[in-house]
Amino acid sequence: MSKRIVLLGAPGSGKGTQGQMLMERRGIPQISTGDLLRAAVAAGSDLGLKAKAAMDAGELVADEVVIGMIRERLNEADTANGYILDGFPRTRAQAEALDGLLVDLGKPLDRVVHLDVDEEEIVKRLLERGRSDDTEDTIRNRMKVFRDQTHPLLEYYSERGLLVTVKGSGDLEAIYGSIVAALDA
Ligand code: ADP
Repeated sequence: MSKRIVLLGAPGSGKGTQGQMLMERRGIPQISTGDLLRAAVAAGSDLGLKAKAAMDAGELVADEVVIGMIRERLNEADTANGYILDGFPRTRAQAEALDGLLVDLGKPLDRVVHLDVDEEEIVKRLLERGRSDDTEDTIRNRMKVFRDQTHPLLEYYSERGLLVTVKGSGDLEAIYGSIVAALDA
């Protein structure tokens, strides 16, 4: 059974929703860099102030900021039996930093699940979601950032034998079923 899991997918591909279902049903924490960053922005911390402009523009927050957040989070006791990373890594530098952290912890990743959704459907979903960074210009920019910086990670993880791709459109329970089947295969 896979326990240390990365959910990889475009903005609006359903990482957050499926990550939450996995957390509730498998009893391992979901770690969302987007949620951690939004909490830092809401708290008005230094880190939040640094992150806000990038998030509003649909750009990525600096690697060292998110890597530092993840390093701290993975050192917390509740991750001992596994975790679901949702929205991290998003760049090659982040993926390499994660590999380094996990070597130090002696606990490598078990699986990387790619949630695959058509770009048209994604734009529609994000416009319906209506978060403050879900305007049309920002969405377009986030899609470009995904294609340029995050999509290459599919090859990175495929080369390491960790990648499984799951269709991320259709019924939520059916998608969840496909994810679990891929995790437990
Ligand atoms: P979505 O995947 O739907 O865009 P997230 O909540 O995952 O939503 O991310 C929202 C924003 O937070 C991103 O557009 C980016 O600015 C920032 N962010 C989240 N995760 C990362 C990360 N791993 N690296 C850099 N920036 C990040």
